Amino acid sequence: MNEDHSIVVVGESLAGVTTARELRRLGHRGSLTIVGDERHAAYNRPPLSKQVLDPELPAEASALGVENLGAAVVRDAATGLDLDRGHVRLASGEVRTFDTAVIATGASARRLAAPGQRGELVLRTLDDARRIRTLLRTATSAVVVGAGFLGMEVVSACVRRGVDVTVVDVEPPLRRLLGPYLSEVTLARARAAGVDVRVDPRGVTLLGDPVTGVRFGDGTTLTADLVVTCAGDVANTGWLAGSGLEVTSGVVIDAAGRTSRPGVHAAGDVVAVRTPRGPVRRPFWANAVRQGRVAAHGILGVPDAPAVFDDYFWTEILGGVVKIIGDLPLEGEPQVLEGSLAEGAVLSWPGRDGGSTVVAWGLKRPLPRLRALAAAATNGSA
Ligand SMILES: Cc1cc2nc3c(=O)[nH]c(=O)nc-3n(C[C@H](O)[C@H](O)[C@H](O)COP(=O)(O)OP(=O)(O)OC[C@H]3O[C@@H](n4cnc5c(N)ncnc54)[C@H](O)[C@@H]3O)c2cc1C
Repeated sequence: MNEDHSIVVVGESLAGVTTARELRRLGHRGSLTIVGDERHAAYNRPPLSKQVLDPELPAEASALGVENLGAAVVRDAATGLDLDRGHVRLASGEVRTFDTAVIATGASARRLAAPGQRGELVLRTLDDARRIRTLLRTATSAVVVGAGFLGMEVVSACVRRGVDVTVVDVEPPLRRLLGPYLSEVTLARARAAGVDVRVDPRGVTLLGDPVTGVRFGDGTTLTADLVVTCAGDVANTGWLAGSGLEVTSGVVIDAAGRTSRPGVHAAGDVVAVRTPRGPVRRPFWANAVRQGRVAAHGILGVPDAPAVFDDYFWTEILGGVVKIIGDLPLEGEPQVLEGSLAEGAVLSWPGRDGGSTVVAWGLKRPLPRLRALAAAATNGSA
């Protein structure tokens, strides 16, 4: 690719920064612009619900430095993409032209507040995490709406700080993502830690303006000092309206990171990957890194790009680190490969398509070891 070729990456976070780094590593010498709408320089989000909510640790997330990339960083929101003219419009009114564009605008927290209802707390940005950290200092009670990974991490932060916490969901904790077996294990662990776990299949609504609690499906209410919504995320695609790109639950890409229009690639939480089962979103850290690398290979025409999904995910629940490699959700009983559930274990489930999913549950094991165990389980030798 010649030195006149200009690339604009929209989204200054994990997927965007990884794409930019990989473009330079693979030899792109032309101009590179990164557009990001946050006031902070790029940072990692996983520490927000772990370290930043811990009063003993600094209220900082690790930086995703873009120094030394020879990239122009523009701190502004992209408001439109004009593919006929090859330009991105910015909120300031400025226009950035490109030969190739990369969409890496990630996702926002899904909100439950009614129109005009104020005071809903979510956890997506460094500012969100710092606000919740401050409120946790004086709170004595909390309600967390949503018992997925993020919700259970916020619950864990409350437990660590001695805050009485109730978590509510339409299903038992982590059921959708991890399946019934590990959901039961999580439920038992949460109850043993004093967490009030409530399941209401009708779902809750937020109570008060500003928000002070939740109303259950039967009309009963629960109030708390702190109410945090952790109800999933929504891809940031609104600014692409009228661009002509195919968008479903996210910007649709193929296995090479290409969108439906030539010269436009996408990566990270904003994408839905076309699969035989339809477009699939897997908004996890390792996928944002992987898809940034895939996008850079595709843009520069470098062969041997990695696979578009990296099925690795980790979380921290009630003091235990959980690492997962493979397809989700997990059905049936696992095989125990190492340790025991009471002390921490490495577990294995048969996955779809003949693969295996390996989970380290409360037992510290390095990632390469877990990948080797997953490969061995798939080959029938574990
Ligand atoms: C609190 C928290 C904890 C997490 N913990 C884990 C974990 O333990 N393990 C794990 O695997 N994953 C975890 N994740 C998920 C992981 O952080 C994401 O998958 C990852 O951040 C995705 O990166 P991204 O660059 O695609 O999107 P994002 O990180 O969402 O970044 C997108 C960026 O684009 C910006 N942007 C949006 N619209 C525009 C626009 N129009 N113009 C300019 N800029 C725009 C956004 O402000 C943002 O800076 C966690 C996420 C959160 C929020």
